Amino acid sequence: MSTHIPVAFLLVALPAFVWAQSPAPSNSKMTPKHQTAEAVHRSALVIDTHADTPQRFVDEHFDLADPLRGGNLNLESARKGNLGAEFFSIWVEPVEYKGQYAHRTLELIDAVKQQAARHPGQIEFVTTPAGIEAAHREHRLAALMGIEGGHSIENSIPLLRQYYTLGVRYMTLTWMNSNGWADSSGDIDDKTIPHTEQGLSEFGKDVVYEMNRLGMMVDVSHVSDRTFYRALNISRAPVIASHSSARALCDAPRNMSDDMLRAIATYGGPNSKGGVVQVNFYSAFLSQSYRDAMKAVEPQADKAVQELKDKAKADGKEVTPSDIEKVRRQFADRIPRPPLSLLIDHIDHIAKVAGIDHVGLGSDFDGVGGQLPEGIDSAADLPKITAALMARGYSADDCRKILGGNLLRVFREVEQVSKELQAESRPKITDKQPFDKWQK
Ligand SMILES: [Zn+2]
Repeated sequence: MSTHIPVAFLLVALPAFVWAQSPAPSNSKMTPKHQTAEAVHRSALVIDTHADTPQRFVDEHFDLADPLRGGNLNLESARKGNLGAEFFSIWVEPVEYKGQYAHRTLELIDAVKQQAARHPGQIEFVTTPAGIEAAHREHRLAALMGIEGGHSIENSIPLLRQYYTLGVRYMTLTWMNSNGWADSSGDIDDKTIPHTEQGLSEFGKDVVYEMNRLGMMVDVSHVSDRTFYRALNISRAPVIASHSSARALCDAPRNMSDDMLRAIATYGGPNSKGGVVQVNFYSAFLSQSYRDAMKAVEPQADKAVQELKDKAKADGKEVTPSDIEKVRRQFADRIPRPPLSLLIDHIDHIAKVAGIDHVGLGSDFDGVGGQLPEGIDSAADLPKITAALMARGYSADDCRKILGGNLLRVFREVEQVSKELQAESRPKITDKQPFDKWQK
């Protein structure tokens, strides 16, 4: 089919079109200095890489059109906060769902897609950087998915591939539990749990390679330090930490040390600009004193949980993880929330140590209850982050990088590496897997 638009017109029209989509260029009279934080935030494509809302979809029949009801994310708050894209976390609790990891994974995936299907005018399910941008242009929230915890693949690369086919675009190699092929910072000191020798088993290395080949981002939030460095060495694409903060400011084992921050920024293969660390908003990962206070109330909280279990047993009832969560939350809610400035300190620290191109937002909304910094109660409060960054001297361009530009750049690189690996004649990785090997 031919078009009647002359090529010359396209050449002239295209730059103008691109310009119309972009923020004011730096040579315009409107210097970034004069842009209000609100205008900068509105001009950004804001991407958050971690929200645990899918559990609410499945277990509470929560709909994104509903009021927040104690949560942190719904359509209204996303609109108010100019949230452009959310990576919904597909997280399977490893004890409760033992033996049914794939089943639960699929139910959570389905729940995200159902939300997009129910609200076609407001949510678009997408799987690519281009898709995120297209949804944003149409003023729709781009919904994506990341699996949190490699146990979801049940030691099967075919399952990993099917999750990719269903639209999963990152996988956190572990959650708090080591899974036999990658180790978690959550149980690395527990001698009763088997760990790998080098951070990744041979199968684990194959998983990382297959993720690179598919174009699924490798997420190192939650993994042990050894698994972190091994994954960086094995990955042929830049990696992300979907929801991790800075260990120098708060000594949580799943925060990133300065050396790890620099490593994420450096690794990613030839021509790579490096990966990105998406700051977690959880107070106990931001504030050392909050973390210490949490530890101090732990014995009391444990006691209260035990009493709940004993009572339920006596009544012949079952205690769900959310019942336990409610009890623990009562204790956490008594600890004063850290100020928003502390969240900004973490962004600032990562920007200084790793570089401005290597920091973003991974809120952990709906995964940490009300334990967020002062002033951050939902996605509607995201503009406050931009305002605080600009107050510290961050330029409009830098803010847009932090708010989503960096993640989009890494996602594009991961897509590019996937194309390159798929064009290689390297034998299929799964040829090495015992369950794929032809038994003579
Ligand atoms: Zn997590």
